[in-house]
This record gives sequence, structure tokens and C-alpha cells, in this order.
Amino acid sequence: MTIFPHVTPALAPALIPGVAVPDERCMCCWYVLHPDMPYPDEWSSTLCAGHDAWYEMKRQARRARRLQTGERAS
Ligand SMILES: [Zn+2]
Repeated sequence: MTIFPHVTPALAPALIPGVAVPDERCMCCWYVLHPDMPYPDEWSSTLCAGHDAWYEMKRQARRARRLQTGERAS
């Protein structure tokens, strides 16, 4: 799989890693379990522990890249 660094979708289902114990209410697990169904609004962006850690990793990577390039946060 090729990941284009200039394309950073907020949440691309194809890029979401699986977790050992999927939680249907987790917005990442939802897209893995139900790729064809929209995530229910009433669960408002819940993340399981595994995807919370994954998301935090992405956030930190983005922050590190910003610091390296001197790019301003928008
Ligand atoms: Zn999850």
C-alpha cells in the first residue's frame, strides 16, 4: 500500500488499522466492521483504547512534522 504524504484525510477507512478487540461504538472499529454503513451520529466520535492510542500517535507525528518544517498550525 502506498501512502501519499501530501494526502492526509481525517479518517480514511483503508488506513485504519485493526485492533485485537474491536468495539462497535469506536468510530475507527465501526469503519472496519461496517465499511458500507455511516457511523451513527449519536455515538459522537467514540474511540476504543487501541484506536485512541493510534490516533494520539498520528497527532504526535503531525505535531512533530509541523515543528520540523516550521509550518504554522492553522
Ligand atoms: Zn477502535
